[in-house]
Amino acid sequence: MADRVYNFSAGPATLPVDVLEQASKDIVNFKETGIGLIEMSHRSKEFMAVAADTESMLRELMEIPDNYKVLFLQGGASSQFFMIPMNLLGTGKKATYLNTGTWAKKAIKEAKLFGDIDVAYSSEEQTFNRVPLKDDYTIDADSEYLYFVSNNTIYGTQFPSFPETEKDLIADMSSDILSRKIDVSKFGIIFAGAQKNMGPAGVTVVIIRDDLLDKAPANTPTMLNYKTHADKDSMFNTPPCFAIYGVGEVLKWLKQQGGVEAMEARNIAKAGLLYDCIDSSDYYRGHAEVTSRSLMNIPFNLPSADLEAKFIAEAAEVGLMGLKGHRSIGGCRASIYNAFPTEGVEKLIAFMKEFAAANK
Ligand code: PMP
Repeated sequence: MADRVYNFSAGPATLPVDVLEQASKDIVNFKETGIGLIEMSHRSKEFMAVAADTESMLRELMEIPDNYKVLFLQGGASSQFFMIPMNLLGTGKKATYLNTGTWAKKAIKEAKLFGDIDVAYSSEEQTFNRVPLKDDYTIDADSEYLYFVSNNTIYGTQFPSFPETEKDLIADMSSDILSRKIDVSKFGIIFAGAQKNMGPAGVTVVIIRDDLLDKAPANTPTMLNYKTHADKDSMFNTPPCFAIYGVGEVLKWLKQQGGVEAMEARNIAKAGLLYDCIDSSDYYRGHAEVTSRSLMNIPFNLPSADLEAKFIAEAAEVGLMGLKGHRSIGGCRASIYNAFPTEGVEKLIAFMKEFAAANK
């Protein structure tokens, strides 16, 4: 096997090596049962314990209050774009959305199938380089909830603090869950695809306040009704066993690292190194406005598209992979989620300095 490289992929993203090594053993023979993890019944006592432990670690790490359910669903984070309005809206009902990028836009498009959607803020004209401050939008009194994307994976923006409102807050935290301490009790629903900060692709975590489980219209399909999954502890049908296991292993690792607070401190320091490098150069330009900067995804540009292509190719040659920006904005992007090591960021910075000096 070739040596592992630094993987700046936006998702699926780098995972802790210890987790990968443990998984490679458990896939063949889980806890000396003689059966591999992905071959065993989801109702076996071994797998039921994996699911229960994963949920309880998430509850502990995020301090999830008892009146919230934790669901492990399939269909990707994208399925939440329609499940949320399908379960919470209905004829004549309204919801407010903040349009801060591609993933918010996709959620808005789906929500419009189910209700009256007010897009109270959009930074589209500024190529989504910022998130709104409190006074940049108003929420209609008859709105059911306020939906926003806490970290915009493509544009590298992140809400430094969350909207303050009496309405139920609904947040897509796919690309920053577990990266900083949050107060779950301020939210109606938090959801996140696992494949960036939590584990392998295949499971979407939904944290939902229990009074929201009873709002779905009667014609909601069984599999798309949150209550179905809440009532059966996400075992209504076969769950994504391997992905849930993977999340559990990542959460064990996160606990060993000191939990969410320790991770937040590390993330601030780690992203700070890269932003300092960008800010102290006139060669590299960050995409996001300074006050909206993400600690997870850092898109940046070089003086020309040709130089960007050369930069990405030469970086790959020295083991810095996955630095190509998303096709919708081009340029470069370094995704540095929880499991991305600081040494990789240091190596990138050294490379950036050398590249700028050699390619004036
Ligand atoms: N929301 C955000 C913020 C994302 O970054 C992504 C994926 N990159 C999605 C939603 C969609 O996730 P999925 O592919 O699991 O549907």
